[in-house]
Amino acid sequence: MALQITEECINCDLCPVECPNEAISMGAEIYEINADLCTECIGHYDQPSCVEICPVECIELNPNKKETLDQLAAKYTQLHS
Ligand code: SF4
Ligand code: SF4
Repeated sequence: MALQITEECINCDLCPVECPNEAISMGAEIYEINADLCTECIGHYDQPSCVEICPVECIELNPNKKETLDQLAAKYTQLHS
């Protein structure tokens, strides 16, 4: 599953630089995660680095983007080949 940012985001600017897939960018009001680029950090880190850095814990699983670990690994390979 890709992750998503909730409306609790305070636009602190910390997470975009932490994303190894450049999946996080500024949206209309708050930062957004491009679900096609987010791999839950699989292939890079043991834990999602954006979740670890977020001071207000406003990054959660995106229920509309259900993916298995194999699918996330395949996405990583596709993004970085
Ligand atoms: Fe980027 Fe990793 Fe966060 Fe996904 S979980 S948005 S890949 S930092
Ligand atoms: Fe928003 Fe959290 Fe990212 Fe800061 S780290 S910009 S609060 S999602």
